[in-house]
Amino acid sequence: MIVVQGFSGRRVGVLGLGRSGLATVAALAAGGAEVCAWDDSPEARARAEAAGIRPVDLTRQSALDDLATLVVSPGIPSLYPTPHPLIAAACAAGVPVDNDVGLFFRSLGRGDWAAMDAPPRVIAVTGSNGKSTTTALIAHILREAGRPVQMAGNIGTGVLSIDAPEEGAVIVLELSSYQTELARALTPDIAVFTNLTPDHLDRHGGLGGYFAAKRRLFAEGGPDRAVIGVDEPEGRYLAMQLAEAPEDMRVIRVSSGQKLSGRGWSVYARRGFLSEWRGGRQVTSIDLREMKGLPGAHNHQNACAAYAALRALGLGPRQIEPALGSFTGLPHRSQLVAEIGGVRFVNDSKATNADSAARALQAFPRIRWIAGGLGKEGGIVALAPHLGNVIKAYLIGHSARDFALQLGGTAHEICETMDRAVASAAADAEAGEVVLLAPAAASFDQYPDFEKRGEDFMACVGALAQA
Ligand code: ADP
Repeated sequence: MIVVQGFSGRRVGVLGLGRSGLATVAALAAGGAEVCAWDDSPEARARAEAAGIRPVDLTRQSALDDLATLVVSPGIPSLYPTPHPLIAAACAAGVPVDNDVGLFFRSLGRGDWAAMDAPPRVIAVTGSNGKSTTTALIAHILREAGRPVQMAGNIGTGVLSIDAPEEGAVIVLELSSYQTELARALTPDIAVFTNLTPDHLDRHGGLGGYFAAKRRLFAEGGPDRAVIGVDEPEGRYLAMQLAEAPEDMRVIRVSSGQKLSGRGWSVYARRGFLSEWRGGRQVTSIDLREMKGLPGAHNHQNACAAYAALRALGLGPRQIEPALGSFTGLPHRSQLVAEIGGVRFVNDSKATNADSAARALQAFPRIRWIAGGLGKEGGIVALAPHLGNVIKAYLIGHSARDFALQLGGTAHEICETMDRAVASAAADAEAGEVVLLAPAAASFDQYPDFEKRGEDFMACVGALAQA
């Protein structure tokens, strides 16, 4: 646990008692704070009581009077579409609002770090897509390089629940816009911005607010080194703002598809090769084409971002290259499940919207595409330009018939269920083809979540392998 510093003997409010909220209460209490914890949901309060935390009603009049700070969970809106009443009251009373990520950064460094030759370092990853993959890839490469590493944030463990880091350790954090929006301290050594596409717009008051929330990772204290994806205008703008001059090596620009020239530091992937350039000279070239855990241009972008962050940390290209090759990918994101008779089966159940499905459809040749579920607004109309590699679609779930109408001339079959779709696609597929689950839809019509959907796909493929 990271013991929260700076609140000993002071009252601190905690709003939201989910997993991260409960961890926050424990970390504050360990630092000597008097914690007043609250959740609007009676079930969450009951769970807290079972964990030995007696809730204090922060919504009653004057509850905020002597609070030093109010710490809130990421799921609770602080401004848009409307602020939670308690946060609005804190704003009116001038009580600072923070979150566990802010507490983490203000509490991480300890006195004994001064005596260390290699004090712990923090890499933080944000962006619209690829955060989890990039975070996990960085952690994997560090592990392979023999460095002690802990991964936390939006992925896995809450930030305050990690162990106090040892000498030479690296903490890799995945941070969502909900987390960067509010944290009052954001001081990673290296920060990564993968890309920006519209998401969570109601929570941030539009695209500008969403970008502003992510940008705080580069402003509130700021990193020593920034790795910025420059394939969208927002990334180019951010990189421009952070660099003092074209040759400023504190900014590493990253692209998937564009050759980045210039006097600075850049890492880009084109035609399956990663290139690193520094001061107008090429330093490295790495062939990504056979890396099974990183298929497609989107994963090449993640590979470039991870590579750049690790170079900024001081790792050498020859340390990084083999570990890129041994990364097996995260479950449910372009995950190679099996190869049967020359047919590859790929699980991208996390492709819950048209945008992420488009990436998967570009990543593979000759696709037998399993799609459908609870369709999003607009269905798959936006995918029309990306259907060139699809031989046939096998449609499941609630949106199957709607999707069929939006497929234009692409061959399709209404299968309804996963087992029928996998069986039919496998029966049709020939060697060299890919059976790809990339639903472009939420899973809730047939599954509790995208993980269960992906597991069902894998089970169906497993049954084929045994047949
Ligand atoms: P996040 O944590 O940002 O949601 P993930 O790594 O979990 O990102 O990937 C989410 C979805 O987006 C998956 O379908 C994945 O294949 C796709 N994806 C991964 N990396 C990228 C990227 N760099 N650009 C666009 N889509 C991506």
